[in-house]
Amino acid sequence: MSKALYYEDAWMRAFDARVSDAKQDQDGVWLCLDRTAFYPEGGGQPGDSGRLLSGDREWLVADTRRDPEGCIWHLLSAQDGATPPDIGTQVHGEVDWARRFDHMQQHTGEHIIAASLFEVTGGFTHGLHIGHEVSTIDVTLPNGATKLDAQALERIEALANARIAADGPVVCSVPDSKELAGLPLRKDPTVTEQVRICAIGDYEMVACAGTHLSHTSQVGLVKLLKSEPARGKMRLYFLCGERAMKHYALVYKAITQVAEMLSARVEEAPQLLREQLDKAAQARRELAVLRRQNTLRKAPGLLAEAQALSDNRRLVIAELEEHDLPAMEALANVITQQERVIVLLCAPKDGRRNLLFARSADLDTNMSDFIKSTGAKGGGRPDFARGACEESLPWEAARVMAPHL
Ligand SMILES: [Zn+2]
Repeated sequence: MSKALYYEDAWMRAFDARVSDAKQDQDGVWLCLDRTAFYPEGGGQPGDSGRLLSGDREWLVADTRRDPEGCIWHLLSAQDGATPPDIGTQVHGEVDWARRFDHMQQHTGEHIIAASLFEVTGGFTHGLHIGHEVSTIDVTLPNGATKLDAQALERIEALANARIAADGPVVCSVPDSKELAGLPLRKDPTVTEQVRICAIGDYEMVACAGTHLSHTSQVGLVKLLKSEPARGKMRLYFLCGERAMKHYALVYKAITQVAEMLSARVEEAPQLLREQLDKAAQARRELAVLRRQNTLRKAPGLLAEAQALSDNRRLVIAELEEHDLPAMEALANVITQQERVIVLLCAPKDGRRNLLFARSADLDTNMSDFIKSTGAKGGGRPDFARGACEESLPWEAARVMAPHL
Protein backbone atom coordinates (compact mmCIF):
# COMPACT_ATOMS: atom_id res chain seq x y z
CA MET A 1 0.00 0.00 0.00
CA SER A 2 1.32 3.43 -0.94
CA LYS A 3 0.73 6.64 0.97
CA ALA A 4 -1.07 9.09 -1.33
CA LEU A 5 0.79 12.36 -0.72
CA TYR A 6 -1.33 14.12 -3.38
CA TYR A 7 -4.31 13.85 -1.01
CA GLU A 8 -2.40 15.59 1.78
CA ASP A 9 -1.19 18.30 -0.58
CA ALA A 10 -2.30 18.41 -4.23
CA TRP A 11 0.40 21.05 -4.86
CA MET A 12 3.30 18.77 -3.86
CA ARG A 13 5.68 18.62 -6.82
CA ALA A 14 8.60 16.69 -5.27
CA PHE A 15 8.97 14.08 -2.55
CA ASP A 16 11.24 11.33 -1.21
CA ALA A 17 10.14 7.70 -1.11
CA ARG A 18 11.35 4.08 -1.07
CA VAL A 19 10.80 1.53 -3.82
CA SER A 20 8.60 -1.08 -2.13
CA ASP A 21 7.88 -3.42 -5.04
CA ALA A 22 8.54 -3.91 -8.76
CA LYS A 23 6.88 -5.78 -11.61
CA GLN A 24 7.05 -6.04 -15.37
CA ASP A 25 4.32 -6.40 -18.00
CA GLN A 26 3.90 -5.66 -21.72
CA ASP A 27 4.04 -1.89 -21.00
CA GLY A 28 7.40 -2.11 -19.22
CA VAL A 29 8.75 -1.93 -15.67
CA TRP A 30 6.48 -0.63 -12.91
CA LEU A 31 7.69 0.48 -9.46
CA CYS A 32 5.51 0.70 -6.36
CA LEU A 33 6.64 3.44 -3.96
CA ASP A 34 5.80 3.49 -0.24
CA ARG A 35 4.63 7.09 -0.67
CA THR A 36 4.07 9.23 -3.74
CA ALA A 37 2.85 12.58 -5.02
CA PHE A 38 2.23 11.06 -8.49
CA TYR A 39 -1.54 10.94 -9.07
CA PRO A 40 -2.67 7.55 -10.45
CA GLU A 41 -5.17 7.51 -13.31
CA GLY A 42 -8.72 7.71 -12.03
CA GLY A 43 -12.02 9.55 -12.34
CA GLY A 44 -11.21 10.61 -15.89
CA GLN A 45 -7.94 12.28 -14.84
CA PRO A 46 -4.84 10.76 -16.50
CA GLY A 47 -2.02 9.34 -14.38
CA ASP A 48 0.93 11.63 -13.70
CA SER A 49 4.30 11.54 -15.43
CA GLY A 50 7.62 12.92 -14.19
CA ARG A 51 10.92 11.45 -13.02
CA LEU A 52 12.57 9.51 -10.19
CA LEU A 53 16.14 10.22 -9.08
CA SER A 54 18.62 8.31 -6.96
CA GLY A 55 22.18 9.64 -6.70
CA ASP A 56 23.24 10.41 -10.26
CA ARG A 57 20.71 8.01 -11.78
CA GLU A 58 17.40 9.11 -13.30
CA TRP A 59 14.30 7.25 -14.50
CA LEU A 60 11.45 8.89 -16.42
CA VAL A 61 7.93 8.00 -15.28
CA ALA A 62 5.47 7.72 -18.20
CA ASP A 63 2.28 6.83 -16.30
CA THR A 64 0.92 6.10 -12.82
CA ARG A 65 -1.75 3.56 -11.81
CA ARG A 66 -3.24 2.36 -8.51
CA ASP A 67 -4.11 -1.31 -7.94
CA PRO A 68 -7.06 -2.55 -5.82
CA GLU A 69 -4.71 -3.23 -2.87
CA GLY A 70 -3.69 0.43 -2.80
CA CYS A 71 -0.21 0.11 -4.31
CA ILE A 72 0.57 3.05 -6.59
CA TRP A 73 2.64 1.89 -9.57
CA HIS A 74 4.96 4.10 -11.61
CA LEU A 75 5.65 3.00 -15.20
CA LEU A 76 9.27 3.67 -16.16
CA SER A 77 9.87 4.95 -19.69
CA ALA A 78 12.03 2.60 -21.74
CA GLN A 79 15.63 3.90 -21.61
CA ASP A 80 18.44 2.14 -23.43
CA GLY A 81 20.84 0.45 -21.03
CA ALA A 82 19.09 1.74 -17.90
CA THR A 83 18.39 -0.77 -15.14
CA PRO A 84 15.51 -0.01 -12.77
CA PRO A 85 16.27 0.72 -9.11
CA ASP A 86 16.27 -2.25 -6.72
CA ILE A 87 13.50 -2.74 -4.19
CA GLY A 88 14.42 -0.75 -1.09
CA THR A 89 16.16 2.04 -3.03
CA GLN A 90 15.47 5.56 -1.76
CA VAL A 91 14.32 7.79 -4.63
CA HIS A 92 13.47 11.43 -5.08
CA GLY A 93 10.33 11.94 -7.18
CA GLU A 94 9.44 14.98 -9.27
CA VAL A 95 6.00 15.32 -10.85
CA ASP A 96 5.73 16.82 -14.38
CA TRP A 97 4.09 19.87 -12.90
CA ALA A 98 2.97 21.66 -16.09
CA ARG A 99 1.04 18.56 -17.10
CA ARG A 100 -0.44 17.95 -13.62
CA PHE A 101 -1.43 21.61 -13.20
CA ASP A 102 -3.21 21.43 -16.57
CA HIS A 103 -5.08 18.32 -15.35
CA MET A 104 -6.02 20.12 -12.11
CA GLN A 105 -7.36 23.06 -14.14
CA GLN A 106 -9.47 20.73 -16.33
CA HIS A 107 -10.63 18.69 -13.32
CA THR A 108 -11.53 21.59 -11.01
CA GLY A 109 -13.10 23.46 -13.94
CA GLU A 110 -15.23 20.39 -14.65
CA HIS A 111 -16.67 20.56 -11.11
CA ILE A 112 -17.66 24.19 -11.70
CA ILE A 113 -19.15 23.38 -15.13
CA ALA A 114 -21.10 20.37 -13.75
CA ALA A 115 -22.52 22.43 -10.87
CA SER A 116 -23.43 25.32 -13.20
CA LEU A 117 -24.98 22.94 -15.72
CA PHE A 118 -27.04 21.38 -12.90
CA GLU A 119 -28.24 24.81 -11.81
CA VAL A 120 -29.17 26.00 -15.33
CA THR A 121 -30.66 22.78 -16.75
CA GLY A 122 -31.07 20.26 -13.89
CA GLY A 123 -28.72 18.00 -15.89
CA PHE A 124 -26.77 15.30 -14.09
CA THR A 125 -23.08 14.82 -14.97
CA HIS A 126 -21.76 11.24 -15.13
CA GLY A 127 -18.27 10.89 -16.44
CA LEU A 128 -15.30 13.11 -17.03
CA HIS A 129 -12.68 12.39 -19.63
CA ILE A 130 -9.64 14.68 -19.72
CA GLY A 131 -8.35 14.28 -23.26
CA HIS A 132 -4.98 15.29 -24.63
CA GLU A 133 -6.53 18.41 -26.16
CA VAL A 134 -10.23 18.58 -25.28
CA SER A 135 -12.13 17.23 -22.27
CA THR A 136 -15.68 15.90 -22.14
CA ILE A 137 -18.46 15.13 -19.69
CA ASP A 138 -21.54 13.01 -20.33
CA VAL A 139 -24.76 14.50 -19.00
CA THR A 140 -28.27 13.13 -18.45
CA LEU A 141 -30.62 16.03 -19.21
CA PRO A 142 -34.26 16.29 -18.06
CA ASN A 143 -36.88 14.78 -20.42
CA GLY A 144 -34.26 12.69 -22.23
CA ALA A 145 -32.77 15.64 -24.13
CA THR A 146 -29.36 14.92 -25.69
CA LYS A 147 -28.34 18.41 -26.83
CA LEU A 148 -28.39 21.97 -25.51
CA ASP A 149 -28.96 25.05 -27.65
CA ALA A 150 -26.39 27.83 -27.91
CA GLN A 151 -28.20 30.06 -25.43
CA ALA A 152 -28.20 27.37 -22.71
CA LEU A 153 -24.48 26.70 -23.27
CA GLU A 154 -23.78 30.44 -23.04
CA ARG A 155 -25.70 30.69 -19.74
CA ILE A 156 -23.78 27.72 -18.27
CA GLU A 157 -20.45 29.12 -19.46
CA ALA A 158 -21.22 32.61 -18.10
CA LEU A 159 -22.22 31.19 -14.70
CA ALA A 160 -19.09 28.99 -14.56
CA ASN A 161 -16.81 31.92 -15.42
CA ALA A 162 -18.53 34.17 -12.86
CA ARG A 163 -17.90 31.49 -10.24
CA ILE A 164 -14.24 31.29 -11.28
CA ALA A 165 -13.92 35.07 -10.95
CA ALA A 166 -15.60 34.94 -7.50
CA ASP A 167 -12.53 32.96 -6.39
CA GLY A 168 -14.33 30.65 -3.97
CA PRO A 169 -12.26 28.14 -1.99
CA VAL A 170 -11.95 24.50 -3.09
CA VAL A 171 -11.93 22.33 0.03
CA CYS A 172 -11.36 18.57 0.17
CA SER A 173 -12.07 16.54 3.29
CA VAL A 174 -12.84 13.02 4.48
CA PRO A 175 -15.89 13.28 6.81
CA ASP A 176 -16.96 10.44 9.15
CA SER A 177 -19.97 8.40 8.05
CA LYS A 178 -22.40 10.31 10.28
CA GLU A 179 -21.27 13.66 8.94
CA LEU A 180 -21.25 12.30 5.39
CA ALA A 181 -24.91 11.21 5.65
CA GLY A 182 -25.95 14.82 6.32
CA LEU A 183 -24.05 16.44 3.45
CA PRO A 184 -26.00 17.88 0.45
CA LEU A 185 -24.02 15.95 -2.20
CA ARG A 186 -24.75 16.61 -5.91
CA LYS A 187 -24.68 12.84 -6.46
CA ASP A 188 -24.26 9.69 -4.36
CA PRO A 189 -20.68 8.48 -3.73
CA THR A 190 -19.57 5.29 -5.50
CA VAL A 191 -17.48 4.19 -2.48
CA THR A 192 -18.56 3.70 1.13
CA GLU A 193 -15.33 4.12 3.12
CA GLN A 194 -12.88 7.01 3.35
CA VAL A 195 -15.10 9.06 1.05
CA ARG A 196 -13.28 12.20 -0.07
CA ILE A 197 -15.58 15.17 -0.45
CA CYS A 198 -14.74 18.11 -2.69
CA ALA A 199 -16.63 21.32 -1.92
CA ILE A 200 -16.42 24.50 -3.98
CA GLY A 201 -17.97 27.75 -2.75
CA ASP A 202 -21.60 27.15 -1.78
CA TYR A 203 -22.63 25.46 -5.04
CA GLU A 204 -20.63 22.25 -5.40
CA MET A 205 -20.26 19.29 -3.06
CA VAL A 206 -19.51 15.84 -4.40
CA ALA A 207 -17.41 12.77 -3.64
CA CYS A 208 -14.22 12.93 -5.72
CA ALA A 209 -10.79 11.30 -5.62
CA GLY A 210 -9.08 13.64 -8.09
CA THR A 211 -6.58 16.42 -7.48
CA HIS A 212 -7.96 19.94 -7.17
CA LEU A 213 -6.82 23.53 -7.23
CA SER A 214 -7.26 25.45 -3.96
CA HIS A 215 -9.22 28.44 -5.35
CA THR A 216 -11.55 28.71 -8.33
CA SER A 217 -9.65 31.65 -9.88
CA GLN A 218 -6.77 29.22 -10.56
CA VAL A 219 -9.00 27.62 -13.23
CA GLY A 220 -8.61 30.88 -15.15
CA LEU A 221 -11.24 30.46 -17.84
CA VAL A 222 -13.84 27.96 -19.00
CA LYS A 223 -14.89 27.59 -22.64
CA LEU A 224 -17.72 25.25 -23.65
CA LEU A 225 -17.11 24.14 -27.23
CA LYS A 226 -20.13 22.09 -28.27
CA SER A 227 -22.65 19.48 -27.18
CA GLU A 228 -23.78 16.43 -29.09
CA PRO A 229 -25.80 13.27 -28.45
CA ALA A 230 -23.75 10.29 -27.23
CA ARG A 231 -25.33 6.97 -26.25
CA GLY A 232 -28.59 8.49 -25.06
CA LYS A 233 -26.86 11.27 -23.12
CA MET A 234 -25.39 14.64 -24.02
CA ARG A 235 -21.64 14.87 -24.44
CA LEU A 236 -20.27 18.31 -23.63
CA TYR A 237 -16.82 19.31 -24.94
CA PHE A 238 -14.93 21.95 -22.98
CA LEU A 239 -11.58 23.59 -22.27
CA CYS A 240 -10.31 25.07 -19.01
CA GLY A 241 -7.35 27.18 -17.93
CA GLU A 242 -4.40 27.57 -20.27
CA ARG A 243 -6.09 25.36 -22.86
CA ALA A 244 -9.00 27.84 -23.03
CA MET A 245 -6.56 30.80 -23.18
CA LYS A 246 -4.60 29.21 -26.05
CA HIS A 247 -7.84 28.40 -27.85
CA TYR A 248 -8.97 32.02 -27.49
CA ALA A 249 -5.66 33.26 -28.94
CA LEU A 250 -5.91 30.81 -31.85
CA VAL A 251 -9.51 31.68 -32.67
CA TYR A 252 -8.86 35.42 -32.31
CA LYS A 253 -5.91 35.26 -34.70
CA ALA A 254 -7.94 33.30 -37.27
CA ILE A 255 -11.05 35.49 -37.17
CA THR A 256 -8.96 38.68 -37.23
CA GLN A 257 -7.24 37.49 -40.41
CA VAL A 258 -10.62 36.68 -41.97
CA ALA A 259 -12.00 40.10 -40.98
CA GLU A 260 -8.94 41.85 -42.46
CA MET A 261 -9.39 39.98 -45.76
CA LEU A 262 -13.00 41.14 -45.85
CA SER A 263 -12.12 44.69 -44.68
CA ALA A 264 -14.72 44.20 -41.98
CA ARG A 265 -15.01 44.29 -38.22
CA VAL A 266 -14.73 40.88 -36.54
CA GLU A 267 -18.44 40.77 -35.65
CA GLU A 268 -19.39 41.56 -39.27
CA ALA A 269 -17.11 38.91 -40.77
CA PRO A 270 -19.48 35.88 -40.66
CA GLN A 271 -22.32 37.69 -42.50
CA LEU A 272 -19.93 39.20 -45.06
CA LEU A 273 -18.26 35.85 -45.63
CA ARG A 274 -21.69 34.24 -46.13
CA GLU A 275 -22.50 36.86 -48.78
CA GLN A 276 -19.14 36.34 -50.53
CA LEU A 277 -19.61 32.56 -50.57
CA ASP A 278 -23.14 32.93 -51.98
CA LYS A 279 -21.82 35.24 -54.73
CA ALA A 280 -19.01 32.80 -55.53
CA ALA A 281 -21.49 29.90 -55.74
CA GLN A 282 -23.72 31.93 -58.09
CA ALA A 283 -20.70 32.82 -60.26
CA ARG A 284 -19.72 29.12 -60.42
CA ARG A 285 -23.25 28.19 -61.52
CA GLU A 286 -23.21 30.88 -64.24
CA LEU A 287 -19.75 29.77 -65.40
CA ALA A 288 -20.97 26.16 -65.63
CA VAL A 289 -23.88 27.24 -67.85
CA LEU A 290 -21.54 29.23 -70.12
CA ARG A 291 -19.04 26.37 -70.35
CA ARG A 292 -21.82 23.92 -71.19
CA GLN A 293 -23.06 26.23 -73.96
CA ASN A 294 -19.50 26.64 -75.22
CA THR A 295 -18.94 22.86 -75.26
CA LEU A 296 -22.21 22.23 -77.13
CA ARG A 297 -21.22 24.86 -79.71
CA LYS A 298 -18.42 22.50 -80.76
CA ALA A 299 -20.93 19.96 -82.20
CA PRO A 300 -21.33 21.42 -85.72
CA GLY A 301 -17.56 21.80 -86.20
CA LEU A 302 -16.88 18.27 -85.00
CA LEU A 303 -19.54 16.84 -87.32
CA ALA A 304 -18.12 18.88 -90.24
CA GLU A 305 -14.67 17.34 -89.63
CA ALA A 306 -16.06 13.83 -89.14
CA GLN A 307 -14.18 10.99 -90.81
CA ALA A 308 -16.20 9.08 -93.42
CA LEU A 309 -16.53 5.32 -92.80
CA SER A 310 -18.07 2.53 -94.85
CA ASP A 311 -21.89 2.28 -95.11
CA ASN A 312 -22.34 6.07 -94.91
CA ARG A 313 -21.18 6.13 -91.33
CA ARG A 314 -19.26 9.05 -89.82
CA LEU A 315 -16.68 8.98 -87.04
CA VAL A 316 -16.18 11.95 -84.65
CA ILE A 317 -13.07 11.86 -82.47
CA ALA A 318 -12.39 14.76 -80.10
CA GLU A 319 -10.14 15.57 -77.16
CA LEU A 320 -11.90 18.06 -74.90
CA GLU A 321 -10.66 20.36 -72.13
CA GLU A 322 -11.15 19.45 -68.47
CA HIS A 323 -13.85 22.11 -68.09
CA ASP A 324 -15.80 20.42 -70.92
CA LEU A 325 -16.16 17.27 -68.80
CA PRO A 326 -19.52 18.16 -67.14
CA ALA A 327 -21.03 18.82 -70.61
CA MET A 328 -19.36 15.84 -72.35
CA GLU A 329 -22.49 13.69 -72.11
CA ALA A 330 -24.69 16.47 -73.53
CA LEU A 331 -22.25 16.91 -76.43
CA ALA A 332 -22.33 13.18 -77.20
CA ASN A 333 -26.15 13.25 -77.12
CA VAL A 334 -26.30 16.20 -79.55
CA ILE A 335 -23.88 14.53 -81.99
CA THR A 336 -25.59 11.12 -81.88
CA GLN A 337 -28.96 12.74 -82.70
CA GLN A 338 -27.50 12.74 -86.23
CA GLU A 339 -27.84 9.60 -88.32
CA ARG A 340 -25.08 6.98 -88.55
CA VAL A 341 -22.51 8.68 -86.31
CA ILE A 342 -19.96 7.14 -83.92
CA VAL A 343 -18.41 9.56 -81.44
CA LEU A 344 -15.36 9.07 -79.23
CA LEU A 345 -14.75 11.80 -76.63
CA CYS A 346 -11.87 12.12 -74.19
CA ALA A 347 -11.45 14.73 -71.41
CA PRO A 348 -8.74 14.92 -68.72
CA LYS A 349 -9.57 15.12 -64.99
CA ASP A 350 -7.05 14.95 -62.09
CA GLY A 351 -4.37 13.34 -64.25
CA ARG A 352 -6.75 10.68 -65.60
CA ARG A 353 -8.56 10.50 -68.94
CA ASN A 354 -12.33 10.18 -68.98
CA LEU A 355 -13.76 8.49 -72.05
CA LEU A 356 -17.26 8.60 -73.53
CA PHE A 357 -18.01 6.44 -76.59
CA ALA A 358 -21.50 6.65 -78.17
CA ARG A 359 -23.30 6.01 -81.46
CA SER A 360 -26.51 6.92 -83.25
CA ALA A 361 -29.60 4.78 -82.60
CA ASP A 362 -29.60 3.53 -86.22
CA LEU A 363 -26.24 1.73 -85.80
CA ASP A 364 -25.66 -1.54 -83.97
CA THR A 365 -22.02 -1.30 -82.87
CA ASN A 366 -21.68 -2.23 -79.17
CA MET A 367 -19.82 0.75 -77.64
CA SER A 368 -19.64 -0.93 -74.22
CA ASP A 369 -17.72 -3.88 -75.70
CA PHE A 370 -15.58 -1.47 -77.73
CA ILE A 371 -14.53 0.62 -74.72
CA LYS A 372 -13.48 -2.54 -72.87
CA SER A 373 -11.54 -3.78 -75.91
CA THR A 374 -9.30 -0.70 -75.76
CA GLY A 375 -8.02 -1.65 -72.28
CA ALA A 376 -9.88 1.17 -70.49
CA LYS A 377 -11.95 0.48 -67.39
CA GLY A 378 -15.62 1.08 -68.01
CA GLY A 379 -18.77 0.00 -69.80
CA GLY A 380 -22.40 0.91 -70.18
CA ARG A 381 -25.18 0.54 -72.71
CA PRO A 382 -24.56 -0.74 -76.27
CA ASP A 383 -25.13 2.81 -77.60
CA PHE A 384 -23.50 4.80 -74.79
CA ALA A 385 -20.49 3.78 -72.69
CA ARG A 386 -18.17 5.52 -70.26
CA GLY A 387 -14.62 4.67 -69.28
CA ALA A 388 -11.48 5.98 -67.67
CA CYS A 389 -7.77 5.28 -67.96
CA GLU A 390 -4.61 6.39 -66.13
CA GLU A 391 -2.50 6.55 -69.30
CA SER A 392 -3.09 7.48 -72.96
CA LEU A 393 -2.68 3.96 -74.40
CA PRO A 394 -6.41 2.91 -74.38
CA TRP A 395 -7.36 6.25 -75.97
CA GLU A 396 -4.70 5.89 -78.67
CA ALA A 397 -5.89 2.31 -79.28
CA ALA A 398 -9.48 3.52 -79.66
CA ARG A 399 -8.44 6.11 -82.26
CA VAL A 400 -6.67 3.42 -84.31
CA MET A 401 -9.39 0.78 -83.95
CA ALA A 402 -12.49 3.00 -84.50
CA PRO A 403 -12.20 3.37 -88.32
CA HIS A 404 -12.39 -0.45 -88.59
CA LEU A 405 -15.57 -0.80 -86.52
ZN1 LIG B 1 -12.77 16.39 -8.27
